[in-house]
Amino acid sequence: MEFSRRDFIVTATMASLAARARGQAQSSATPGAQPTRPPVQTTGKGFGTGRPPILVSSANGWNGIDIGYQMVRDGKDTLDAAIAVGKVQEDDPNDSSVGYGGLPNEEGVVELDSSCMHGPTRRAGAVGGVRNIKNVALLAQAVMNNTGHVMLVGEGAERFGYAMGFEKMNLLTERSRKTWMLWKETHSNQDWWGPGLDDPNWQANAQGEAASAQLQEEIYRRLEELAARLGIEPEYRQVAIEQVLHPPHGTIHCSALNDKAEISGMTTTSGLAWKLPGRCGDTPIIGAGCYTDQDVGSAGATGSGEENIRVAGAHSIVENMRKGMSPQEAGLDVLKRIARNFNNDQNKLRYVSMNYYILRKDGAYAGVSMWSGRLDRPSRFCVHDGQKRLEPCVALFQGTDLPYPPRTPQPRPNVPSSR
Ligand code: ASP
Repeated sequence: MEFSRRDFIVTATMASLAARARGQAQSSATPGAQPTRPPVQTTGKGFGTGRPPILVSSANGWNGIDIGYQMVRDGKDTLDAAIAVGKVQEDDPNDSSVGYGGLPNEEGVVELDSSCMHGPTRRAGAVGGVRNIKNVALLAQAVMNNTGHVMLVGEGAERFGYAMGFEKMNLLTERSRKTWMLWKETHSNQDWWGPGLDDPNWQANAQGEAASAQLQEEIYRRLEELAARLGIEPEYRQVAIEQVLHPPHGTIHCSALNDKAEISGMTTTSGLAWKLPGRCGDTPIIGAGCYTDQDVGSAGATGSGEENIRVAGAHSIVENMRKGMSPQEAGLDVLKRIARNFNNDQNKLRYVSMNYYILRKDGAYAGVSMWSGRLDRPSRFCVHDGQKRLEPCVALFQGTDLPYPPRTPQPRPNVPSSR
C-alpha cells in the first residue's frame, strides 16, 4: 500500500486505536464490567502506617529509594534523602521522563522542572524550563539555599546553575532524539496546540469511525519501518511508537520523614513529551507538584500537570490533613475536586491521569490515583520504612485512563467506584 505524507498524517492519528485496543483488551474488554481489585492493605483507618524513618515515592522511585532510606537512617537531612531518590532517575539515560534522556519538547529540546520543600526550615526552591542541567532537583535546592528567591526559570535558572558549579550538558540522548524524530515525521495536527480539555466546547474526537484492523496494522508496520530507518534499536521500537502515538507523562516525587519527625519533599520531571517550548506543568509549582508543612506532612503529584495546578493539589492535600483527614481521605478529596472541575464528566475525566503520594508527620501515608489502572498493571507507589515495597494506589475510579489527546472514538468509560 502506498502512503502519501498526508495520508500518513491522517491515518497515523487513527492508528492509536490499535495501541489502545491492545491496552484495553487487557484491561476491560467490556467497559464497566471490570472486576474491582482487592482493597489495599491498610491499618483499618483508611491509610497505611509506617514507622519513621519512612520514604514515600512514585513507583519509579524504586531504584533510588534504598539510597534515600539509608541516608535518613544515617541521620542525613530529609530533603537531601528525597533528592537523592530523584537523582538516580535524573542520571539514568534510559528513564525518558526525568533528567538526562527525558523526552524533549516539540522542538527537540529537553526542558526540566523541579521543586522541593524543606520542612524543618520551612523553605522552598523551584526551577522551571531548564535546558542544559540534568540534576534539577539539586538546582531547585540550590535556589532555596543560595538565593533570596523561591523560583527561577529558563535561562536565568541555567546561568544561576553554572555559577553554582552545575555542569552544562546536552540532555537529549540519541534514543530520545530518534524518538522525537519519529514523532516529528509522523506529526500531524494532533499535538498540544489548540483548546485543551478544560475548554467548554472540547469534543472527544473528530476522527469518525475507527480504522479497520488492516489499516491499523499497516500504520504500525509503517511506523516500525520509519523507526528502523531512523536507527531506533529493535527492542525499543515498540516503546518509541507508543510514545509517539500517546505522548507520555512521567515524573518522580519523594517525601521523606526521619525519626525526629522532620519531613521534606521533592518532585522532578522532564514534563510532557512534545510539549510547547516554555510549558511548565505542576512539578515546579510549590503547592501543586510538591508541598510540605513541618506541622502536618508532605505531598507530591505525578500526572496531568494542568489539572493539578487548577486544584493546587499538594497544598490542598496537606491542608486537608491539617483539618483532620487521613492521608487517603485528603488525597481522594482532591481527586474529587478535579472531577468536579469537569462536572464529573467521565468522557473528559478518562483522559486525566493523576496520582498523589502523601506522607503525614506521624508516618501515616497513602498513594491515591484517579484511575486504578489495568488489572495487570495497577497504579502503584513505593514505600520504604525498612522494608521496600510497591503498594497499589487507592483509586477514585476503577479502570484505566486514556492517553491525551484522544485520536479515535473510544468506548464508554468505566463505572466509577462508590468511593
Ligand atoms: N506532572 C508532570 C507534568 O505535567 C508530568 C507527569 O507527572 O507525568 O509536567
